[in-house]
Amino acid sequence: LEDNRMEHSDIQIFYQEDPEDQNLSQNSCPPSEVSHTNLCSPLKARNYQLELALPAKEGKNTIICAPTGCGKTFVSLLICEHHLLKFPQGRKGKVVFFANHVPVYEQQKTVFSRYFERLGYSVTGISGATAEKVPVAETIENNDIIVLTPQILVNNLKNGTIPSLSVFTLMIFDECHNTSKHHPYNMIMFNYLDQKLGESSDPLPQVIGLTASVGVGDAKNIEEAMAYICKLCASLDASVIATVKENLEELEQVVYKPQKISRKVEPRTTNKFKLILCELMKETEYLAKSISEELGYLFQIQDRVFGTQKYEQWIVAVHKACRLFQMPDKEEESRICKAMYLYTSHLRKYNDTLIISEDAQMKDALNYLKDFFSNVRTAAFDDIEQDLTRRFEGEGCFQNRKPLETHLILQEEYHLNPETRTILFVKTRALVDALKKWIEENSALNFLKPGILTGRGKTSNKTGMTLPAQKCVLDTFRSNGDNILIATSVADEGIDIAQCNLVILYEYVGNVIRMIQTRGRGRAKGSKCYLLSSNADVIEKEHINIIKEKMMNDSISRLQTWDEVTFQKRIYHIQNQEKFIRDSQPKSKFVPDKENKRLLCAKCKVLACYTADIRVIEESHYTVIGDAFKEHFVSKPHPKPLSYGNFEKKEKIFCARQNCGHDWGIHVRYKTFEIPVIKIESFVVEDIVTGLQKQYPRWKAFPFKKIEFDATEMSK
Ligand SMILES: [Zn+2]
Repeated sequence: LEDNRMEHSDIQIFYQEDPEDQNLSQNSCPPSEVSHTNLCSPLKARNYQLELALPAKEGKNTIICAPTGCGKTFVSLLICEHHLLKFPQGRKGKVVFFANHVPVYEQQKTVFSRYFERLGYSVTGISGATAEKVPVAETIENNDIIVLTPQILVNNLKNGTIPSLSVFTLMIFDECHNTSKHHPYNMIMFNYLDQKLGESSDPLPQVIGLTASVGVGDAKNIEEAMAYICKLCASLDASVIATVKENLEELEQVVYKPQKISRKVEPRTTNKFKLILCELMKETEYLAKSISEELGYLFQIQDRVFGTQKYEQWIVAVHKACRLFQMPDKEEESRICKAMYLYTSHLRKYNDTLIISEDAQMKDALNYLKDFFSNVRTAAFDDIEQDLTRRFEGEGCFQNRKPLETHLILQEEYHLNPETRTILFVKTRALVDALKKWIEENSALNFLKPGILTGRGKTSNKTGMTLPAQKCVLDTFRSNGDNILIATSVADEGIDIAQCNLVILYEYVGNVIRMIQTRGRGRAKGSKCYLLSSNADVIEKEHINIIKEKMMNDSISRLQTWDEVTFQKRIYHIQNQEKFIRDSQPKSKFVPDKENKRLLCAKCKVLACYTADIRVIEESHYTVIGDAFKEHFVSKPHPKPLSYGNFEKKEKIFCARQNCGHDWGIHVRYKTFEIPVIKIESFVVEDIVTGLQKQYPRWKAFPFKKIEFDATEMSK
């Protein structure tokens, strides 16, 4: 150990003002100069970086937990360099660095190449995009440092191309908090732990994990949080969690925690929405009143309050009364009746909408109204309808408040600092496009040059971004081209997007890990982070995340007080338990498509049933067996009962959860059975293992083990 410490002074250190690796990933000088001048990558290790690297340099398996933007990449370079240099003549080390996302992979490959090739080490990388063209075993054999996306190694361990992890002497896991469940990181570690706990005496590589946050899972107290963190350590065979303790002051000067601002958009929206709707209702009532003197008396009822059940009852009564209204002039009667019918049905819809907007999100209410109006437009469309529709459409304020709120923030921030550079995180790919379009079409925002960054994923119908496209976007953002980047979650793990000082999270919230990392994006001094949401739950969730963050920090501090032997014993115990559980599970359980999945109500996300309980009737109808499901829905008589084939449509079924009532499908008589038939578009499919949620528009698009309906099962 003393020897290792001695070597500190041998590491060549250079000075650089900016945090971490921007200077390495940028072309600060032509490559030709690299070989003969060290000034090219002038980096000086900060004290806290040396502190973080220390246990790893002592050869311990370590999880390095430090905030995004503090230079963990540089810490891993220090560790890696120390590791490679410590081998005596005739022996060689081999390092593998894992990166989850391709942009991170590219970035790290560049950083490692620049840093190590000047020292005479060979660096290479294999990702999903290149794996098929590259002989993996040879590539690993012939290089000192290999940057990989983890699935490559999983595949090659599985097919035997790489016989054992003993080919490596050091493994570095970037974003190592992912080492859980069936993530490729964990599959690699399963292999490692099988070797460690098994018979083999081949040497195992040292394991290093890098993360901004280890997470706490679903922990509700500090004991559960500690157990969660211990399990992560066991998964990575780590005996040390390294955090900055001695040099906190220095760290805090480097990592500027952005000012966090939460903006709840809903109150203003709801009120305005309500205001406008009430105005519309007043106008419509006035129009109805003035259509016929004879019916005016119907409106002389006191204490009407819009948006209440009472109003609903009243308007239904008026509606009925009008239908029975008679006049000597039949044509006039028809005109008045029809007009009253229209006015009252519009009033009913407005009232419904107000009720919905109270309980659910405004979006649902607005969709409800839009649906109504699009139906109106396709049906008979007379003067009165046209007039009412125009009144509705004239209200521009029905548009979502969030873009407007974003607009205000952007205008204010760019006014204060025209050099502001923004990342706007949104949840979906579709929103990325929508917001880009919105910025481009909004002349008041012409000071913005938006770029977009999305994953390479194959999700739904939109094709993702190609790798060169991603790189191009990042380069443009770096070199002052674009000044606002609209991104989906792909950009929230470790990609080096230098110096943005404004982060806007647009209805974007996740677990505590995601929160810490996204906050880390705003690296420049005086940066701000806005959370914009119309949902009180989202704001609340953010508060919970902050509590969880504190719980995590406290847990780590406590675990760090344990002596190493006690900690290692605990880890060893967990590893054995987990291995036993793993080994006693039949392998077939790991085939993802056959795995049982949860169906959640697409509206309120309540658990409806499991795919294992679904049976297929006549190849195209899907029912759920068992009594458990019956408690999750309520049925109402079907407005259009109908028979077709062996089916007799009797009722519609809805989510039984209060305030939800989402349309789930129908209840039918099939031969002699009374059974529910559900439609998949009413549900969200959740993978039990990964927690990943997906939506399918049709049953055909949803691959799962489809079991045919069996009448004998129903008698059980
Ligand atoms: Zn529901």
